[in-house]
This record gives sequence, C-alpha cells and structure tokens, in this order.
Amino acid sequence: MAGHVDGNALAGPLSELFAFDPTTASARCASCGDTAVLARAMVYEKPHSFIVRCSACDAVLMVVLQKGDATEIDLGGLAWLRTLG
Ligand SMILES: [Zn+2]
Repeated sequence: MAGHVDGNALAGPLSELFAFDPTTASARCASCGDTAVLARAMVYEKPHSFIVRCSACDAVLMVVLQKGDATEIDLGGLAWLRTLG
C-alpha cells in the first residue's frame, strides 16, 4: 500500500502509551464492553505472571508474563487501552 511509513513512526505515540500509569489508564473489555480504569480490574498474582480480569464480567483483560529479564503483555482481552491526555 502506497503512502505508508514504517513502524518507527509509532515511537512517539506508543512510548507514551507503554509508559502509562496503570492506576489512571482506562480500558474497554472486549468481552462485555465495560470501560473502567485499570485500577478497578481484578489482578491475580501467580509466579512470574499477573492475570488481569474485568471487574464486570470476569473475562481476562490482559496477562503480564515475566520471563527472565523480559516482560510480555497479552492484551487480547482489551478492545482498547487509553491513557489520560
Ligand atoms: Zn468485561
């Protein structure tokens, strides 16, 4: 497709998103559509992982895995994630 730029164009906007404060960022559950700040989500702490569930429907919103020095985040349960502007 013509007119596109490469992923480096995302450095600015995504660096803000991925440096977000989870206590103030809001998210929409892809399962039930509930929108809430992540601080309201239910977090289940496991060895090397955090399972984040929707406080309205209990669906998994995100999974944070800590693998050695790396952190992997599965955002599959989110419709979107929004930082405060
Ligand atoms: Zn939900």
